Amino acid sequence: MTYDQIITNGTVVTAKGKQRADVALTGEKITAIGNGLAKKAPAARIIDATGKFVLPGLLDVHVHLEMPFMGAISADDWNTGTRAAARGGVTTVIDFAIPQGTQTLEQAHQTWLAKAKDKACIDYAWHSVITNWDRHGPEMAAMVALGCPTFKEFMIYKAEGLESDDRALFNALEACHKLNAMLLVHAESARVLDELVARHHTPALMAKYGARLHAMTRPNFIEAEAIARVIKWSEVTGGQLYIVHMSTRDGAKLVRDAQQRGVPVVAETCVQYLVLDDSKFARPDGHLFACCPQIKKKKDQERLWKGLDRGEVSVVSTDTCTFNRTQKGLWNGDWTKIPMGLPGVETMLPLLYTHGVLQGRISLRQLVEKCAANPAKLMGLWGRKGNLAPGFDADIVIIDPKKKIAVDHATMETNADWNPYQGWKLAGFAENTFSRGRQIVDDYKFIGQNGWGQWLPRKQAGKL
Ligand SMILES: [Zn+2]
Repeated sequence: MTYDQIITNGTVVTAKGKQRADVALTGEKITAIGNGLAKKAPAARIIDATGKFVLPGLLDVHVHLEMPFMGAISADDWNTGTRAAARGGVTTVIDFAIPQGTQTLEQAHQTWLAKAKDKACIDYAWHSVITNWDRHGPEMAAMVALGCPTFKEFMIYKAEGLESDDRALFNALEACHKLNAMLLVHAESARVLDELVARHHTPALMAKYGARLHAMTRPNFIEAEAIARVIKWSEVTGGQLYIVHMSTRDGAKLVRDAQQRGVPVVAETCVQYLVLDDSKFARPDGHLFACCPQIKKKKDQERLWKGLDRGEVSVVSTDTCTFNRTQKGLWNGDWTKIPMGLPGVETMLPLLYTHGVLQGRISLRQLVEKCAANPAKLMGLWGRKGNLAPGFDADIVIIDPKKKIAVDHATMETNADWNPYQGWKLAGFAENTFSRGRQIVDDYKFIGQNGWGQWLPRKQAGKL
């Protein structure tokens, strides 16, 4: 076996643990992990990683690039979004293909392929969003056969044409059980949420509370009731359920209890729920921080970190859905009109490294487990992504634990003219990133190529 490139002398970290070792690459694959590999391949390019950590490229399995939403289109497209990912050490993104109007799931898949193909700098896939059970349900088997075994349903967003009712959730979970597929669910309780929003939607309250109404109208029970309900549908159908962007301590407890009685449910949280809290809404520019679900309280943060450590939270993602100041400005004082979403894929690894690993909340091994191994396994990409081992794609990130960089939207790849973490000094940005053997970040600068990324077909989903 000849090696083209060898990353030497670094500390290799996988979900199994840490070791001092070299990593050898041949073409697009990892071909050996061991010591003294450079001696066996004198012609190989050597990348010295002394004092650095060598990790599998992360997966961010929850992003929305150039997505039409609330009268705007999210500002990171398949180019800036994947460049931002590369600089954040993310080498695979999974988006959501949303049928527009009467489109089929397959038509939405084709629409997303057309958007991503020439722009994406890293590999990608998407979950198929079921917006109408009667039309999309019968397509599920064909989508799995096509390589798309993950589906998404929203329990809210009736006005946007996205909402699924209990019948759609029950049926989709039943189908997932038959198809070795997985259902991702946005769990919030729609009718009670609508009621709370209506009660607060008055000129007087909007003038008084501004963006704080976003948090005031979404108490924790809005998420908890929906999670409890959909867990019941998973329990009775046996369908694999994945709660996206879980944001509350109440949700973490429900998932833990369900897992203990054998319900096939896993949970994802997002970085913003681990490091931001709802005091941000009181800032003069607090409306910028609106995402959905909204950021919660310190107590919720601590419970979610604990859930990562204990295991009931299996995945961290970002729900990247970037809107710039002008787009966010559409709110004009009415919190129900703020395009909801935050930039995030570029800062996931540094935030988790700095606020998780360096503060002793999770280990670096756990970070790799939650952002690489577990998402790869659950989404049906294990064997190719999420690990450093022979046969896996050479998707690799090297971080320097000593190098801190201040977050500044002006110098970042993300197409946002603000950042929720502006000025935060973070260690863990990617010094080097490799995507299928090709170096795409060098010395913290993006050097990749548009269209390099490939769509990733998958056979099944939901197995940890
Ligand atoms: Zn989302």
